[in-house]
Parts: sequence; C-alpha cells; structure tokens
Amino acid sequence: MRTAIYPGSFDPVTCGHLDIIRRASKLFDKLIVLVSVNPLKTTCFTAEERVNMIRRVTKDLPNIEVDSDNGLLIDYFNKKNADVIIKGLRAMSDFEYEFQMALVNKDLCHKAETVFLCADAVGTFLSSSMVKQIALFGGDITSYVPHGIVEDIVKGVRRLTDKETLKS
Ligand code: ADP
Repeated sequence: MRTAIYPGSFDPVTCGHLDIIRRASKLFDKLIVLVSVNPLKTTCFTAEERVNMIRRVTKDLPNIEVDSDNGLLIDYFNKKNADVIIKGLRAMSDFEYEFQMALVNKDLCHKAETVFLCADAVGTFLSSSMVKQIALFGGDITSYVPHGIVEDIVKGVRRLTDKETLKS
C-alpha cells in the first residue's frame, strides 16, 4: 500500500491543485491532501473551511483523505507511515523553494521522497492568491476554481474586506 501526502495552504483550492490531486490519486493507493496550518501565514479561510472545500470537490475520488495539521510535515509523514510527498510545479520560480524543501525533508527523514508533478497548461499561471484578488474585485473566477466552491470563495473574500472596512 503506497501512501502519498500532498501538502499546501489551499487557501482556497484551485483547479490547478485539483488537477494535481486527480493525477496523484491515480499514481498511489491512497492520497492524503493535507491543509498545512502555518501561523506565520495569514489566510483568508480557516483550516476547517479549506478542508471542507477540498472534501466537497474530491468526493468522486475514492482514495482521497483530507486532513489538516499544524505541525512539521515530516512528523505527520511518519505518523501516517507515508511513502511520498507530492508537490506541484508551476514554473522555475516554484522550483528553487520546492527543491530546498525536498532536500530538507529528505534530510529529516531518509525515507521521504518528493515527487514533482508539472502543472497543466492552465494551472501554470494559476495561484490561490490570484483567485482571491480576482474575486475581491468582482471578477469571474469560475474557470479557475472547482464549480461547487465559487460562492464560498466569493463570500470568504468579502468577509475579509468587510473586516478591513470595519477597522478603518
Ligand atoms: P501556494 O504555493 O500558491 O501558496 P499552496 O501552498 O496551496 O499554494 O500549494 C500547494 C502545492 O500545490 C505546492 O506544491 C504548489 O507548488 C502546488 N500548486 C499551487 N498552485 C498550483 C497550480 N495552479 N498547479 C499546480 N500546482 C500548484
């Protein structure tokens, strides 16, 4: 039984992430999509909301588990007795950071192999922050995020701007 973990912020999950999830799920017996909670990163959606959105858009895939964790990835990896860490690569700009992370994880746990999957043509220019910016200014995000979560994203981004308005 080969288990892979696909970690990320997923704030929110995009069609680019979903493409990687679908492809990785075919390569391994089980794929855990892990919402990593990083206190140094400000997010628009809570971990619970992010997990919930991923669960909804992956419910047709039988071998997916969605979870969140606020610790070190490699500790989670060992706890789950996983074999592989999945990373999506969009451009050379992703590579340097991801290469560094893969080396660190391998150093912390020799068994931890990172497998990189290249983003598809559309995914190459897609990021969660771009989706949030488009939604914030009332643009159409329907081709960038899975259908079932468009409203959640628009509401989430609005909530953020409402808070900002209240502050000023
Ligand atoms: P970001 O790196 O934009 O903050 P995440 O932390 O949610 O986004 O990304 C999780 C993983 O998914 C990373 O390996 C990242 O390189 C990859 N990824 C992000 N966006 C895409 C995309 N559009 N297509 C393919 N892979 C992606």
